[in-house]
Amino acid sequence: MSSEFSQKYLGKGKNTKKRNKMILTFTLLIISFLCMCFLCFAFIYTENNKKAITSSATQPASSGVTLSSQEETTDSSYGLKEASNTDSPVTINVMMIGDMLIHRGVYRSGTTDNVNYNFDHLFANILDDIEEADMRIVNQETILGGTEMGLDEYPNFNSPQEIGDAEVEAGFNIILHATNHALDKGLTGLNTTVSYWKTNHPEMSVLGIYDSQEDADEIYVYEKEGFKVAVLNYTYGTNGIPIPQSAPYCVNMLEDEEKIRDDIRRAKQLADMVIVSPHWGSEYVYYATSYQKEWTELFLEEGVDVVIGTHPHVLEPVEEFTREDGHRMVVYYSLGNFVSNQDEIPRMIGGMAKLTLVKEGNSARIESYSIEPLVTHKLFGYKLITTYKLSDYTNELALQNAIRRDTPQCTDSRCVCGADITGLPSHSASNFTLDFCQQFSKAVLGDMYDY
Ligand SMILES: [Zn+2]
Repeated sequence: MSSEFSQKYLGKGKNTKKRNKMILTFTLLIISFLCMCFLCFAFIYTENNKKAITSSATQPASSGVTLSSQEETTDSSYGLKEASNTDSPVTINVMMIGDMLIHRGVYRSGTTDNVNYNFDHLFANILDDIEEADMRIVNQETILGGTEMGLDEYPNFNSPQEIGDAEVEAGFNIILHATNHALDKGLTGLNTTVSYWKTNHPEMSVLGIYDSQEDADEIYVYEKEGFKVAVLNYTYGTNGIPIPQSAPYCVNMLEDEEKIRDDIRRAKQLADMVIVSPHWGSEYVYYATSYQKEWTELFLEEGVDVVIGTHPHVLEPVEEFTREDGHRMVVYYSLGNFVSNQDEIPRMIGGMAKLTLVKEGNSARIESYSIEPLVTHKLFGYKLITTYKLSDYTNELALQNAIRRDTPQCTDSRCVCGADITGLPSHSASNFTLDFCQQFSKAVLGDMYDY
């Protein structure tokens, strides 16, 4: 028909009436076609919006939906705009490792001349895991006052600043400093650490210690494509060293309940999800203490999404809680050590927390979470000490671990030595084998770990 029409149209007015009729018919056909296209487009668009709004509204409460109060109070046009974007959920992968406890044996591993230091070897076996994550968090237990202040170890640690350089090189982007060792070298040590980060790695997000009230008041929020996750970091204490009156803001303390509730509420205003990392609990026990449980209750009440604890220097369980209204919270009580030169075999075993958080439309949730046990491969010598994922560790490596030559029996009076955990293997040093590491992880982590 189209070629017939062309011929007639180009046929220079042989039959004008017939031609006009043809033009009219053709025009009507075009208009009808355009109308149909428009109607189809409008229908698809409306359906998509409907679907998006429905999925956002009917998200089961048990999946950990957390609307920040900012979102709850925004007008409906904001909601619609967000909802139309649900085709592309945003995912944030979080990874975190535990205590960087820099004893002499650890800082000596980074030098041959006590002048130049490098600690890239500490992270060499977990680089892929760091790279896979968006939020890459490390608990820097000791201050980084550097060699000029004089390096030191237990009980008043001061570590090389090259430890921080290695953390940056490995890919970490969030450094936690609220620990009981934050004031080991007084306010000078703390300020030197803050200044090191600000001067040498200004892009790094350093939490928990501050050199001004202004910085201490600011809540850290990680953002990826509009998905915002806040992180708060506190310590239970500073080993009896009083907070200097001249700088009451210098360490974030897990003390004043009202202040912490207020911080969490502010964080929820600013972000879709909130992670709290408390430095808490009792050293060398493998379960949550009543102190940890009390704070956990407060965190749940306030609607925290994830808690990742540090300090006990050993692994503690991972637990999931659901508030009465369905709000879900995951708690890692303790990730143990990432690296140390401690001398009891359970302290060689730590954990790497891994979580996948998803924001879809107006709602954000914990998609999945896991813990990967880690083993400090303690050896003495240049660049020898390092940490492996337990899944990569071998019995051959375990038999080389210098921990086997340490204290033959667990001597720590606070250590429960398996009394409270059925099946926890004996802590005798010669027991340190791959099998011990696996059994120990299983005894503490239960269903969270399989081998
Ligand atoms: Zn600690």
